Amino acid sequence: MIVGAPSAPGDETRVGMVPAVAADLIDAGHEVHVESGAGDAAGWADDAYREVGCKISDDRGHVIADADVVFEVAALGAVEEGDSGQYRDDQAVIGMLGPFDAADERVEQVAQMGVDAFALELVPRISRAQSMDANSSQANVAGYKAAVQAADTLGRMVPMQMTAAGTVQPAEVFVIGAGVAGLQAISTADRLGASVKAYDIRPEAQEEITSVGAEFVELDVHADEASDEEGHATEQDEEFYRKQREQLGDVVAESDAVITTAAVASGEAPRLVTSEAIAAMDDGSVVVDLAAAGGGNCDPTVPDERVDHEGVTVFGPTNLPATVPRTASQLYANNLVNFVENMLEDGELVIDTDDEIVDATLLTHDGTVRNPHRDDESTGSEADDGDGDGTESDGDGQPDEPGDTDGGGET
Ligand code: NAD
Repeated sequence: MIVGAPSAPGDETRVGMVPAVAADLIDAGHEVHVESGAGDAAGWADDAYREVGCKISDDRGHVIADADVVFEVAALGAVEEGDSGQYRDDQAVIGMLGPFDAADERVEQVAQMGVDAFALELVPRISRAQSMDANSSQANVAGYKAAVQAADTLGRMVPMQMTAAGTVQPAEVFVIGAGVAGLQAISTADRLGASVKAYDIRPEAQEEITSVGAEFVELDVHADEASDEEGHATEQDEEFYRKQREQLGDVVAESDAVITTAAVASGEAPRLVTSEAIAAMDDGSVVVDLAAAGGGNCDPTVPDERVDHEGVTVFGPTNLPATVPRTASQLYANNLVNFVENMLEDGELVIDTDDEIVDATLLTHDGTVRNPHRDDESTGSEADDGDGDGTESDGDGQPDEPGDTDGGGET
């Protein structure tokens, strides 16, 4: 099998192949072809790949065309200009392919080319798939960086200081939403010495929040069904969100840093923090809104901008993992290779749609678009109901261990 790793398009700094993963693949008898410069921004020069036996090529087209499997960071609908024109028949393409947005034309085009495109965003939440779950591995990096960015922006030290020159109280950090990113933001802020509070709509998150070092903030508003069978928080009505905003406002106002990560399955971020609450924070405080790509959890958030809102800095980063490209790429490349290994039989890639993981992620196959998350009307293609039937739910509320990648290449 030839695995091809083109560089990621646009401003993306991550890469889908790292030398440690390439070495494992080459040891197992495969070839790894890497586009020259693909790892530069993540800290791996061409020589680092050459040393483990990769073939380096200046010709992006060849890296893609020669490969049996292409490792992408983002492609198809996830970027303006993907690699779709260069894919070839009988090739598997794996990456964050943006299957949820209006990429239909490009996805259709790729399907017609006979490509088997796998969208890693669609990896199901089952134990067997945890080592392939790029949403989680990248959310973990984002949560870490959000806490570091908040600490770096604050005009004050984070840990408590008892010095001859006086005593300084620890910074107050409030994390809203305690999924993978939120839990990592809590533990990072805690390790920096902050006094951390956190809140999540799912009642089971209380134990997770306290176990990583934060005080759980209890609100007088309770959802009948806070999460679905896959463990995703469910969307609530506007009256519910109004009550949340009202009650969260007091905790926000007394925080030095607020990190918001609340997300629901639809992708549209619930609006949980008002402009007034942020204006009531001390000057020099900071908000990092990790839900910016979905519209933001906070009123003043502007995606990918740093906004000064009445003396408070509000960040709306949409790709924080790309600001920690080395770790993010290591974990992501592990996710990719674990995903491929699940499909290998005697060294050959076998696409078995009876495998739950293959079935959930295979976006295009046999010339058609078959993403189960799309409805029949919009595609005219085969599609199932996407209700997750038969999936082994992780709805027990146990968090993924932040940083746990289950092997698949050295990290
Ligand atoms: P996510 O990124 O979908 O959402 C982030 C958090 O926002 C969630 O904790 C959610 O409950 C919270 N949220 C949504 N609406 C909210 C609101 N109105 N107010 C407050 N909080 C709100 O979450 P995630 O990182 O995918 O994690 C969700 C759960 O699923 C966690 O328990 C996580 O450990 C689990 N999980 C399991 C797997 C697996 O088994 N492979 C993978 C990922 C996550």
